[in-house]
Amino acid sequence: MRRTMVAGNWKMHGTRASVAELINGLRHLALPGGVDIAVFPPCLHITQVVDGLKGKSIQVGAQNSAVEAMQGALTGEISSSQLVDAGCSYVLVGHSERRQMMGERDGTLNRKFAAAQACGLIPVLCIGETLEQRESGKTLEVVSRQLGSIIEELGVGAFAKAVIAYEPVWAIGTGLTATPQQAQDVHAAIRAQLAAENSEVAQGVRLLYGGSVKAANAVELFGMPDIDGGLIGGASLNADEFGAICRAAGN
Ligand code: PEP
Repeated sequence: MRRTMVAGNWKMHGTRASVAELINGLRHLALPGGVDIAVFPPCLHITQVVDGLKGKSIQVGAQNSAVEAMQGALTGEISSSQLVDAGCSYVLVGHSERRQMMGERDGTLNRKFAAAQACGLIPVLCIGETLEQRESGKTLEVVSRQLGSIIEELGVGAFAKAVIAYEPVWAIGTGLTATPQQAQDVHAAIRAQLAAENSEVAQGVRLLYGGSVKAANAVELFGMPDIDGGLIGGASLNADEFGAICRAAGN
């Protein structure tokens, strides 16, 4: 049985003061049992969040990490080992904003994924198609290529200790959400691709849906058989809304 998971990606939002307020809101939430909950603040605020959430069952992750596992001469980057030292449990790999705006390609993402696992961080691999790709019928091809890159490089076993987030790019921050059936179809294809290599890994891996998830649409999305929770952007900046989404995952 897979444990559901709700992850909040704060993106490049927050000041020390607003983060303190958000931590306070999160600390007061009634959270469901049986759901893994994590927040991904900007790197600058990770230690503030780790300290602020002590004793609350919310894990902390980073939004990005270096291609190298260990600290060294790589100006401006942060290694997986440093993230573990700061108290992180997870790291996002290949969020579409980084693929599109920072030019991150599959080869780089394979290295980031491997570096994270080498340090005991759980990578959350983000994959998904653009609107143009969906409209030209290429959704499954794109998602399969992004997933296949890790499988080819690191083997399907790498997904025994990883999470996958399917995030259609056209649904991120747009207010447009994939319908539960659209999301389920892609999740089922992702699981089938993994199952073709190793059915145990395929059955165990959590597949999160991301793209304008809110409390109002979470129950229906999370009710689909291959959707094991969500990666939440904008709505995770509001503690009450985030809490309601976590409770939807607990239903
Ligand atoms: C995200 O950034 O991963 C995301 C899903 O954003 P939003 O929920 O705002 O669409």
